[in-house]
Amino acid sequence: MKLIIASNNKHKIVEIKTMIGEWFDEVLSQSDAGFFDDVEETGSTFSENSYIKASAIADKFKGYAVIADDSGLMVDALNGEPGVYSARYCGVHGNDKANNDLLLKNMLGEKNRTARFVSAITLIMPDGKVFSTEGKVEGEILFEERGTGGFGYDPLFLSIELNKTFGEASADEKNTISHRARALSSLRNLLLIQNKLG
Ligand code: IMP
Repeated sequence: MKLIIASNNKHKIVEIKTMIGEWFDEVLSQSDAGFFDDVEETGSTFSENSYIKASAIADKFKGYAVIADDSGLMVDALNGEPGVYSARYCGVHGNDKANNDLLLKNMLGEKNRTARFVSAITLIMPDGKVFSTEGKVEGEILFEERGTGGFGYDPLFLSIELNKTFGEASADEKNTISHRARALSSLRNLLLIQNKLG
């Protein structure tokens, strides 16, 4: 079976490929597959947006499985923000530096730093069957960036389990406990139960 990853985020594509690549005969990113449409994320939840992204591609590429991750950071002191707006928190899509600066600014003087990353995964199989899962990982927002690994909010997110930021963690460490790893692990269990994995 061939899989298309519904994302233009290079980091996400590498993480997903690393974690589930071996389940499929071939894994393509959406641009590898020739999909260049701008899909508007009009949903109000991660799971709605994940489905919107996966189905936009599945509608065009028959015979492929399509997977989408919609994810983001939810900060308790900011009432769950940036949430579904994580990628465009600063007003521009995908400017990690500006997003992190705005997050630090909005957290100035805030004592409650608890937060979590959330990932909603949608897999649409070639026969149209849809599998949806979610994963979460708990942490705290630091007062300054630490580490240069990962992407997005990783250098500001202190993982409770690793006792280091996702920016300081190795790719393997992050891929063991991350929100995305947990959503993909639940997906694996769902597929195994349904005998959909080889
Ligand atoms: P999406 O591509 O629309 O799902 O937006 C995801 C956004 O959430 C990214 O651009 C990051 O800002 C943030 N995000 C999601 N997952 C991670 C992660 O693993 N590390 C750091 N930031 C993340």
